[in-house]
Amino acid sequence: MVSKPPVNDVGDEGLVIGPPKEYAAGLPAVAWSLRHAGRQMGVKRSLLTLVQVNQKQGFDCPGCAWPEPNHRSVAEFCENGAKAVAEEATVRRVGADFFAAHPVAELADKSDYWLGQQGRLTEPMYLAEGASHYAPISWEDAFGVVAEELTALDSPHRAAFYTSGRTSNEAAFVYQLFVRAFGTNNLPDCSNMCHESSGSALTQTLGVGKGSVSLEDLYQADLIFVVGQNPGTNHPRMLSALEKAKQAGASIVAVNPLPEAGLLRFKNPQKVSGILGSGTRLTDEFAQIRLNGDLALFRALNRLLLEAEDAAPGTVLDRAFINEYTHGFEEFAADVRTTPWADVLEATGLAREQIERIHRRVLDSPRIVVCWAMGLTQHKNSVPTIREVVNFLLLRGNVGRPGAGVCPVRGHSNVQGDRTMGIYEKPSAAFLDALEKEFGFAPPREHGHDVVDTIRAMRDGEVEVFVAVGGNFVSATPDTTATEAALRATRLTVQVSTKLNRSHAVTGRRALILPTLGRTEQDRFVTVEDSMSAVHMSRGKLPPASPHLRSEVAIVCGLAERVLGAPERGDQGRGDRVSVPWRDFARDYDLIRDRIERVIPGFTDFNRRVREPGGFVLPHGPRDARTFPTTTGKANFSRNDLAVLRVPAGRLILQTVRSHDQYNTTIYGLDDRYRGIKQGRRVVFVNPTDLAELGIADGALVDLVGEWSDGTERRAPSFKVVSYDTAAGCCAAYFPETNVLVPLDSTADESNTPTSKSIVIRLEPRSS
Ligand code: SF4
Repeated sequence: MVSKPPVNDVGDEGLVIGPPKEYAAGLPAVAWSLRHAGRQMGVKRSLLTLVQVNQKQGFDCPGCAWPEPNHRSVAEFCENGAKAVAEEATVRRVGADFFAAHPVAELADKSDYWLGQQGRLTEPMYLAEGASHYAPISWEDAFGVVAEELTALDSPHRAAFYTSGRTSNEAAFVYQLFVRAFGTNNLPDCSNMCHESSGSALTQTLGVGKGSVSLEDLYQADLIFVVGQNPGTNHPRMLSALEKAKQAGASIVAVNPLPEAGLLRFKNPQKVSGILGSGTRLTDEFAQIRLNGDLALFRALNRLLLEAEDAAPGTVLDRAFINEYTHGFEEFAADVRTTPWADVLEATGLAREQIERIHRRVLDSPRIVVCWAMGLTQHKNSVPTIREVVNFLLLRGNVGRPGAGVCPVRGHSNVQGDRTMGIYEKPSAAFLDALEKEFGFAPPREHGHDVVDTIRAMRDGEVEVFVAVGGNFVSATPDTTATEAALRATRLTVQVSTKLNRSHAVTGRRALILPTLGRTEQDRFVTVEDSMSAVHMSRGKLPPASPHLRSEVAIVCGLAERVLGAPERGDQGRGDRVSVPWRDFARDYDLIRDRIERVIPGFTDFNRRVREPGGFVLPHGPRDARTFPTTTGKANFSRNDLAVLRVPAGRLILQTVRSHDQYNTTIYGLDDRYRGIKQGRRVVFVNPTDLAELGIADGALVDLVGEWSDGTERRAPSFKVVSYDTAAGCCAAYFPETNVLVPLDSTADESNTPTSKSIVIRLEPRSS
C-alpha cells in the first residue's frame, strides 16, 4: 500500500538541523510563549487572556490534563499552554468567503499546519453531495441534514459518534445521552488511541482505570519513575512538580529511547534561578531503553526484588500489604523468578549493571510513583506492560498510601472527564442501569465501536454517518490512507470544531462543519476533570469569535431534539420513548450537573462543590482506602509474558512523536526546539551506529517503508535522516506525517490501541 504524495509536506526547504538542547523551559520558553501569543492574538488580548489560564475563576487550559496546584501564580501556564490558548483565541477568521475561494479538493492538499493557521470557524458550513465547495447553512437546516441522514438509517449502529478530549463534562454527558437514546454505543474517542491500555490494565489490577496519585504524592515520593514520556513538550508543568519533588529529596529515573531535554534539566521560568541560573537537574538515572523493552525492565526489577527478599526475608517486600490486599502473588512470583536475563537485556538494550543500579535505588526508596504516557501504551503488549508496572508497585505496598502510586499522565485537557461522563463504547452495566433509571429509557447494552473498529466499519459500509465533537479524526488515527478512504465511503460526516483541520477536507458524500465556542469564550461555566481526578470549573471571558457560534452543549442538545424529537412538543420519532429536556439543558447547565450527580458516583452535591475554588476530587477506592473493586475484590498480581520484539536485519523500530511546536494533531509551528530542528517536520531521528550499519549518511533523503506481517507495505516518502542519540535499533519521526505507516490491524492486545510506538520499517534512500 503506497500513500499519496506527502500532504503534510509544508515546504522543508528551510529545514535547519542543530544540536539538541540540554534543558527545557527557561527564558526561551517565555519568549516563545509571548511570540506565539502575540502573533495570534496581539499584545493586549494576549495579556488579558493568559492571566485567566488555569486560574480558579478562569478557564481550563485547552492543552493537556496536568493538574493545577492549590496555590496558583499569576502565570499558571507553560509554553505549550500559551500556544494552545493562542490558537483558540486567535483573531484570524475562516468565514464563508474563505470557503468560496478554496474548493475542498484544494484544502485536502494542504498541510495540517496550513489549515490550522487560517483561524477560527465562524458559521455553519455545508458540503452538498457532488459540490466542490462548502457553502453557508443555517443551524436549523444543518440539524435537519443530520436528522435526515440519521433517521434514514436501517439501524442506529450504522452511525458513529466520536469525541475529542477537549469536550467539557456537560457536553460529554448530553452527547452520550443523545447517542444512547438514539440507540447505539458507537462512541469512539481519543482515549482509544492514547490511554486505553492504561485503563484496561489498571481496571484489571486495581479496579479503577485512572491514576491513584495527587500532586502531593509526587512531592512526598522518594523515587519517581518517568517512563515513555516527554513531559518537557507534552505536559510541561509536570517539570515544576518534578523539580519540587526533587528539592524535597526524591530521585528520578527516566526510562525512554530518546534523552529528551525535559527529562534532563529544567529551568523554571517562574523563578529567578530558572531564568538566570543553570536550573535543576531532574534525572538521576537515565535508562535509554529500546522501544518495547519496558515490560522486560519491570519484570527484571520484580525478579530482583524477589531475590533480595529471599536474601533478607522480611526486609524488601511489604508482606502485610500483599497478604491483606492482593491476590495472585504466588503464581506471579513463581513466573517472574524464571525471567531470563538474556531476554531482558535483548528486549531493553540496557546493561545488567544499570538495571541493578536502578534496583538499588528502589530498595532505598520506601515511597515510589511510576508515571507514564504513550511510550508505554501504544505497543502490542502495552496492557501486560502496565500490569507489570502495577506488580512492581504492589510488591512494596506502593498503592494507597502517601507518596506512592500509579500516574498515567493523560493528554488532552478533559479526556479523563469525558470517559467518566460515559463516553465509552463498552459502558458498564451499572452505568447503563443508572442512565435507564434516571431517564426512563432502555439504553443499548451491546458494545459499540472504538476508533479502530469505527474505521473498519466505515470502510466496510457498516457505518454510514460519522459525527465528531471536536478533534481531527483523520490526522489522529492510524493508517491514514485507509482512514481517509473509510471516511470518504460514508454518506455524511459532521465535525463540531473551533478551527479548520484535515477532517473538514476528507469528507463523506455530504459534510457539515458546525462551529463551536472555545474554552476561552463567554458561556455558562462548564467543568472538567484533570489527570488526577480533580473536577473543577472553567469559565471563558472573551467575546465569541463570531455571533453565529454555539456551545458544544447547545449543538448537541439541538441535534438531539431534532433527531429524537422534543418531549415538550410531544414529537414522535426514533426517540419517542425518550423524555429528555434538551432545551432546558442547553439553557441551564446546572440541570445537566444535577443529572450527572444522579447517574455517576462521586458527584454528590455537584453544583455546590464545583463552585468552590479549585473544585473537588473524585473518590478513588485504591487511593483512598485500599479498596480494590476488581473481580477478586483485591489488587491483582498478574503474569505477563516477556516476548522480545525482534526485527529482521536492516530494519528499525519506529516510534511516532510530537514536535515541540505541536499538541496532538495541532501544529503550532515548524520547529522542534529541544531536538534542534527548525523549519521542517519530515525528519527521521536515527542512531548513528544504525546509520553506519545501514550505509546511510546523516542528512540523506529516504522513504520510510513500513512492513506489516500480512506482507503489505506502507510508505511515507521524503524524510531527511538526522543522526541522533536514540536507542540502538530504534528511530523516531513526527505524527501525523507517519500515521500512514501504522497498519489499522496493528493494535494492542486487549485495548485495541494502535501500535504507534513499535512500527517495523526500513529506510529506502531516494535520489532526490
Ligand atoms: S502543562 Fe498542560 S494544562 Fe498546564 S499549561 Fe501546559 S499545556 Fe496547559
